[in-house]
Amino acid sequence: MAGCTDCPRACAARGPDSYCGTSRPGRVFWRGVTLLEEHAISPTYEIYFTGCSLRCRFCTVPDALYAPDVGEWMPPEDLARDVADARHPPFNAVSLVGGDPTVNLPYVRDLVPALRRHVPTADLVLNTNLFVDLRHAPWLTDAFDWIVGDVHFWRPACAGPLAGSRDYPAAAVAAGEAFAAAGARLILRVLVLPGHLDCCAAPTVAWAAALPGDVQVHVMTHYAPAGRARSHAQLGRGLTDAEIAAARALLPPGARVPDAAPRPVRARLATAEDPAVPFEVGPDGRVLFPFVTGDLLPVVADLQPALRDRLSYLGTPADLALSTE
Ligand code: SF4
Repeated sequence: MAGCTDCPRACAARGPDSYCGTSRPGRVFWRGVTLLEEHAISPTYEIYFTGCSLRCRFCTVPDALYAPDVGEWMPPEDLARDVADARHPPFNAVSLVGGDPTVNLPYVRDLVPALRRHVPTADLVLNTNLFVDLRHAPWLTDAFDWIVGDVHFWRPACAGPLAGSRDYPAAAVAAGEAFAAAGARLILRVLVLPGHLDCCAAPTVAWAAALPGDVQVHVMTHYAPAGRARSHAQLGRGLTDAEIAAARALLPPGARVPDAAPRPVRARLATAEDPAVPFEVGPDGRVLFPFVTGDLLPVVADLQPALRDRLSYLGTPADLALSTE
């Protein structure tokens, strides 16, 4: 029997012994409407699939990686119908996230047309680490309105120990270029990691900003250590103010960046429900929320200005309030 071709790992067979460990594609770790994606795709109904093709040391949802066969599973038609349920807060986009959605491709292929039927006005977003088999790029470009690519590393010597693949940077660059060439509307996110400004963030931003096509570059400076990163010598801290300033200076003049203006959104009904969110409390007492739902909005609005400023695309408290009229 031929091996799995859903990602560049090319395992002999999908299952508990494969790299992603997913026996049944389409298991969901968490889903709900979040408010802190780029304005063009926010608020977003996010579907976090289990299973990933990488093992990033700083992953904020490690349970999705290390327990890939745990989680909700619904037939694609039922999941799409539930996404359209009026009990959810309003959203402008549906984003497939993970883990990585591309290790769930057999399910995603059925989910996309179901979402088009049940939530026809929502943009569909593929949020991927870009460790993608290039053979899938044309289909993914056609299927989604947006490709959001998180480019985590540039240098193989960094990606090997910290993400589980020295091959990842070259694959991500090839995938980004393939998506751009295929005409995808791309947001390339560069999460700046402490100690990786010169080796990874700088060349990644330069590459992304020079790509032809409909490409926006989002330099993210809000990194906070989570999970296995907390004990890591290099990744166990946030960025210093000097590193944030240096990261923001990486964008060359004229680079396209995400839109600073929020999109209008329907008013949130008083009966709207947000799901419970996982959170992590560090030894220093800091609490990390990987997802910001409407229930958590007052917490974000009350953040100290120095912390809010790290979310460079956040806008003002008034912008946030737009989502919760
Ligand atoms: S999707 Fe999973 S099983 Fe398939 S090649 Fe990638 S890691 Fe291996």
